[in-house]
Amino acid sequence: MRVFKFGGASVKDANGVKNVLNVLKETGYSNLVVVVSAMGKTTNALEDLVALYLKEGAEFKPLIQDLEHYHKEILETLFEDKKHSVFKRVKKLFKDMQTTLKRNKSTQYDYIYDQIVSFGELISTTIISEYLNHEGLKNEWLDARNFIKTDNTYRDAQVNWETTQKKIQEKDIKNGLSITQGFIGSDDNNFTTTLGREGSDYTAGIFAYCLNADSVSIWKDVPGVLNADPRVFDKTELLSHISYEEAIELAFYGASVIHPKTIQPLQRKEIPLYVKSFLKPMNEGTSVKKGQPLDPHLPCYIVKKNQILVSLSSLDFSFIVEDMVSEIFSLLHQYQIKVDLIQNSAISFSLCLDDKFNHLDELLAKLKIKFKVTYNTGVSLFTIRHFTNEAIKSLETNKDILLKQITRETYQMVSR
Ligand code: ASP
Ligand code: MG
Repeated sequence: MRVFKFGGASVKDANGVKNVLNVLKETGYSNLVVVVSAMGKTTNALEDLVALYLKEGAEFKPLIQDLEHYHKEILETLFEDKKHSVFKRVKKLFKDMQTTLKRNKSTQYDYIYDQIVSFGELISTTIISEYLNHEGLKNEWLDARNFIKTDNTYRDAQVNWETTQKKIQEKDIKNGLSITQGFIGSDDNNFTTTLGREGSDYTAGIFAYCLNADSVSIWKDVPGVLNADPRVFDKTELLSHISYEEAIELAFYGASVIHPKTIQPLQRKEIPLYVKSFLKPMNEGTSVKKGQPLDPHLPCYIVKKNQILVSLSSLDFSFIVEDMVSEIFSLLHQYQIKVDLIQNSAISFSLCLDDKFNHLDELLAKLKIKFKVTYNTGVSLFTIRHFTNEAIKSLETNKDILLKQITRETYQMVSR
């Protein structure tokens, strides 16, 4: 049993979908679960749609039309027969989406988000499953919401492993080819939930874990895991092998190549993860396995943009002591703000934060009651794992550095 994951970039147009067929033909497609994300930038567009929907007086229908048009063009390239039932199925999904919006009474952003944004994956998998069937690769379309059971933390749903495992094992998925959605699940009331942006990798990990799969392959537009993000750094090299631990570290510091939660379930069952190029499916790519060292051993560069650097000092020059620190952290937890880095001195405490849910203002208001607060928004956090002096020097050139920190294997720096 294997699990594959194709991301949005790999299915952004009709050629991408055709290429999925190629990859499956080259690598074999029995005993396989294929997890697919929404096509191209669909998730972003659906996020915009939800924002407009919640804005009084805003016209959101054109956005739906654009999205429908985008998917229809892909369909028309893939299916010559315009009477093929897939056209109706996709149309129905767009209708369902509109009905959901019309009937919705909630004003809770996170909840509405999950009910709407999940359509991206439902639509993409419908198209891909039908296309593969059409091309002779008989497959079953699975609604991931019947398998991935979660709590109701919308937009960041936590998996209920016991129920999920039971649901997946109850269904005899083995043998054939199954196509399912990444990123989405459902709560106890069967409302749709999502696992966090880029969560499709995680879905692949969950299925692999529950199926005791032999491997997971993530198909990318890069040759594998590189030692730096090619969108940010000029020179990059392919890492052939990395350990689970290293992959978790890289993901934790913000390497976008693997979703941070993905590794844990795989590591627990020692299921290898391959990251490969969807354009060159027979190339080795990167393998993530137990205990393998980083090979080749290179400094790995990671950048997280749009972070916030907050510095707190006590109002009366007293030390920031343990109970204050614990209060700060409980506020961060309350406002779902992630801490990337901490540094403290006698009277000041600095934190580099990631405010995914836009709660910074609320947090600052609370902090200002007890502390003198200074902060910078829009800063970048750079990390070098396995740094060398040379690597640090070249990274620091021409940067306005606000803070840095070095531990045994990891160099971190915040700059404007
Ligand atoms: N479509 C979702 C996103 O863009 C999930 C994923 O791609 O993994 O975040
Ligand atoms: Mg995506």
